Amino acid sequence: MMYKLQRFELVENLRNKGITDELFLNAMLNVEREKYIPSGVRPHAYKDIALPIGYEQTISQPYTIAIMTEALKLKRNEKVLEIGTGSGYQAALLYEMGAKVYSIERNMDIYNEVLKRFEKLGIRVHCKCGDGTLGWDAYAPFDKIIVTAGSPGVPDALKRQLAVNGRMVIPVGNKSSQTLKVLSKTSPDEFEIEEIPQFAFVPLIGRDGWK
Ligand code: SAH
Repeated sequence: MMYKLQRFELVENLRNKGITDELFLNAMLNVEREKYIPSGVRPHAYKDIALPIGYEQTISQPYTIAIMTEALKLKRNEKVLEIGTGSGYQAALLYEMGAKVYSIERNMDIYNEVLKRFEKLGIRVHCKCGDGTLGWDAYAPFDKIIVTAGSPGVPDALKRQLAVNGRMVIPVGNKSSQTLKVLSKTSPDEFEIEEIPQFAFVPLIGRDGWK
């Protein structure tokens, strides 16, 4: 419990920055970020910064995670697809929020590590190792889709696999900077799109991402 106060302070900090989704803030109070990062960076677990998780990948800054998750407008029991499992921290937050979580990771080593972590921590997320730009047809449609790596565009498979009235959050841009696109699916082939500027994610690599 040594990180409990720091976790509380981080959540207060996010509130002060304008985050209001109580379901999310409450999940953030309960999920232990220090358990998702390498031991060397653990002292920084509750700073509002991105941290390295190995394999040239990063766990996003808490404020970025907050903006993305709040934009999903997630409700309990909704079905969510996450692309880029990474450390598993984002997936654990979604699970803690009461969602049915499906998550895809392309890197086999990261995938194997996160499976062990979820097992140990009792996080029940459906995981798959593969190219997330193709989505996960077997479980579509999804109420929400969250992509946690930067893409050159919105993959068609993800647009198709989003439920009508569903929402998707995806960073789109070049390799060094992206805007966060928030898509709401208003009919089988229509989307409303909002954009939140200035983010920097690691690249989404795949058939409908970066090659
Ligand atoms: N959500 C993660 C963030 C991980 S960083 C967390 O909370 O820690 C982005 C991850 O996306 C990396 O692990 C990277 O390997 C993965 N990734 C990149 N392209 C992918 C693709 N096409 N499909 C699935 N995962 C991908």
